[in-house]
Amino acid sequence: MSEAPHLTFDLEKPGMSNGHLVVPEGADCEALSLPVVSLNKGEGPRLLITAGCHGDELEGPIVARRLLEWLPEAQVCGRVVIAPMLNPPAVKACSRNTPIDGLNLNRVFPGRSDGSVTERIADAVARVLLPWTDTVFDLHSFGLNWDFSPSSTTHPIADPVLMAKTLQMAEAFKLPMTLVWEHPGSPGMFDTLAQNQGKVFVCAEFGGGTVSFDAIALYEAGLRNALIALGLVEGKPEYPTFRQQKVTQTFETRRSSDELKSPARGIFEPRCSVLDQVKHGDIIGALYPMDSLTADVIAIRALGTSIVYAIRSGAYVEMNEAVALVARPVNQ
Ligand SMILES: [Zn+2]
Repeated sequence: MSEAPHLTFDLEKPGMSNGHLVVPEGADCEALSLPVVSLNKGEGPRLLITAGCHGDELEGPIVARRLLEWLPEAQVCGRVVIAPMLNPPAVKACSRNTPIDGLNLNRVFPGRSDGSVTERIADAVARVLLPWTDTVFDLHSFGLNWDFSPSSTTHPIADPVLMAKTLQMAEAFKLPMTLVWEHPGSPGMFDTLAQNQGKVFVCAEFGGGTVSFDAIALYEAGLRNALIALGLVEGKPEYPTFRQQKVTQTFETRRSSDELKSPARGIFEPRCSVLDQVKHGDIIGALYPMDSLTADVIAIRALGTSIVYAIRSGAYVEMNEAVALVARPVNQ
């Protein structure tokens, strides 16, 4: 019988504590030590900041780690626990899924203590870090081959009170887009587990395959805005500039109608940019069939008035693969 997942330090200790969340060994790999920092300034909000869930999304781990350069000084109350690298094997391999068992950490919550390594990480996070907190910021980015607007996102939540609180928290990031994202209902998401326990959970989405200086600056500004809104630090929120715009808007996107798919296999070329407004019939991209050069290039068109939230930034796609995601203002 292996040991239970645990922290190497006491979360109740005042001030700054550094240590690890130990994920016990299993049949497939030895024990993992996930770096964790606790900043305990007593009464106030209890916030967990996680990053590195998907190993190919590296903005989150950088921004979470950079918090240590200023947050210990700036924090005025409450408690913040930062776990910048939830899935070390995936981060080291720059892979969305854990290379050891091929699983997506954000699809296996609440995990299993006797499962494979990804399930054991989820179990450790769910049992040791999550119970302690009332708000979670999970820092992601959109992954390779996509261009998209920096966003704070949530999914529709059945409880209207928790939905309103979560949306308010997401909007406090003041990023160009706040998105209520109707998800296909994938089981095992960290969001769903936390929300089912009544916690406010906001997922930030940034970047796009390459870690850029601009994206990191935006990410950091958004996170700071959210910390101000929670009352953990003092200051005035700023609207970060993205592509010459300084706006923040709240949108929703529906899986069934707002995801545009490739009608055939081939190379996708974007014909618009994120945050562009499109109307019915506008061309958002082109698909170049490559198996036969006599086949026509196919125009992919918008189905209605909407804003382009995410678009493939040029990739070989299979038939029915998503190439763009559009969104509409909430309640329209
Ligand atoms: Zn992710």
